[in-house]
Amino acid sequence: MLWFSHDRYLDHVAGSGHPERPDRLRAVAHGVARSAYGEALDRREPTPATQAAIELVHPTGLYDAVETVGLAGGGRIDADTVMNDASFEAAMLAAGAGLNAIEALTAGEGDHAFCAVRPPGHHATASQSMGFCLFNSAAIAARTLTGGGERVAIVDIDAHHGNGTQDIFYADPDVLFVSLHQSPCYPGSGAVGETGTGDGVGTTLNVPMVPGTTGDAYRQAFDQVVLPKIESFAPTWLIISAGFDGHRNDPITDLGLTSGDYGDLLARLLPVVDNGRQIVFLEGGYDLEALADSTEAALSVLCDQTVTHPEAVTTGGPTNASIAAAMALHDLG
Ligand SMILES: [Zn+2]
Repeated sequence: MLWFSHDRYLDHVAGSGHPERPDRLRAVAHGVARSAYGEALDRREPTPATQAAIELVHPTGLYDAVETVGLAGGGRIDADTVMNDASFEAAMLAAGAGLNAIEALTAGEGDHAFCAVRPPGHHATASQSMGFCLFNSAAIAARTLTGGGERVAIVDIDAHHGNGTQDIFYADPDVLFVSLHQSPCYPGSGAVGETGTGDGVGTTLNVPMVPGTTGDAYRQAFDQVVLPKIESFAPTWLIISAGFDGHRNDPITDLGLTSGDYGDLLARLLPVVDNGRQIVFLEGGYDLEALADSTEAALSVLCDQTVTHPEAVTTGGPTNASIAAAMALHDLG
């Protein structure tokens, strides 16, 4: 089990009171330390991505803009997305973690990789940093893999729609993008009818969830839509955008999941590809205890193929019409 993280991620500060704060990564580390698996991790310090790797996804103009703000000591990209003097380097190291994970897994050095990174990436579109995200690290990893002839499924379980990742691969038939997310919620995209365009028609799957949704609806969506869709796509690699902000205690969303649910969902997802081809990226998650618990649950699945529930799985939330709608749109059952 490969674990990529870097102290420099702690130096990226988006401003006083910002929910995407360094303590998030300290909470993840706390979850590792109190789990049974801290000793089992093969801990690696990532190297920064190259500009060429960033430009597999983002145009030079965006790379230059982010670098320029970083070199100037920081500044505001949009209302929510703020950089300081460490942010550019942190973002390059976040993208680099995914690339290092691909190299290490390809070399047979581990069964899975977890990239405990900041800033997150899934809201960054090809041309726009937004939503706390500068570069789309998961997308850069996926594009690197498809450049080598691989087929990649990206499953985004963050509470927010992964609009950036969807945008980047909307017309790409070699990447299946799946997002389960709260709706309505930021950034507003991710309707069930958004299924791809051009050669990529059918390789985007959105399952929006109403506020209050509990784990049973996620499990239903996995069983009836997500897992059958992945099986028919037949990916060779799996990238998971693991935001833990769907936790019921998260302060900026309204879903009803627990760390037990996250462990359960990861356990269902991992077997869709062979071991050695699974990379997990930390995306959002803003309650520190929920982050620690969810990290612990994730590690139990990744290291031990068992789910140790720091919290029980949840049931009893509202039903989601989007599951049946997605089944119909994607010809599943
Ligand atoms: Zn999120």
